[in-house]
Amino acid sequence: MSQIHSGGCQCGAVRFRIAGALKDSSICHCRMCQKAFGAYYAPLVSTRAAELTWTRGAPKRFQSSNHVQRGFCENCGTPLTYEAADGIAVAAGAFDDPASVPPTIQYGIEGKLPFVDHLHELPAWQTMDDIEAAPFLADIVSHQHPDHDTDGWPKEG
Ligand SMILES: [Zn+2]
Ligand SMILES: [Zn+2]
Repeated sequence: MSQIHSGGCQCGAVRFRIAGALKDSSICHCRMCQKAFGAYYAPLVSTRAAELTWTRGAPKRFQSSNHVQRGFCENCGTPLTYEAADGIAVAAGAFDDPASVPPTIQYGIEGKLPFVDHLHELPAWQTMDDIEAAPFLADIVSHQHPDHDTDGWPKEG
């Protein structure tokens, strides 16, 4: 199993690499994580003893409380870190391979939104199932950084 993980923000201005075992992958339902991620809950992977390196750029940080900073890309807004005295956790969805760090525990369940346990029961569509309602999808051009490291970004020419 690979002990090197990479990832970054949507625009590619900030990229990271983590060397070492990642064992503490979680979701947090607390209200501050909801707000910081603009989401129903926050997926976070604690780096613990692993070594986190910013390989391109660095996050801008917001001091969300007296003990915690939240890192994000100041160019595109992707949430990237939760940083406290006991270590740094990295946003799981920002990993190039989020499936490699499945969550094993939930935190902050006092803030859990009541419908979260039923999300998997909702009607489910693939993106291109919706092509008639959103014809622009047929010729969409992604500006999202690919899910691997690149020498330069955005690509020249
Ligand atoms: Zn970015
Ligand atoms: Zn939280």
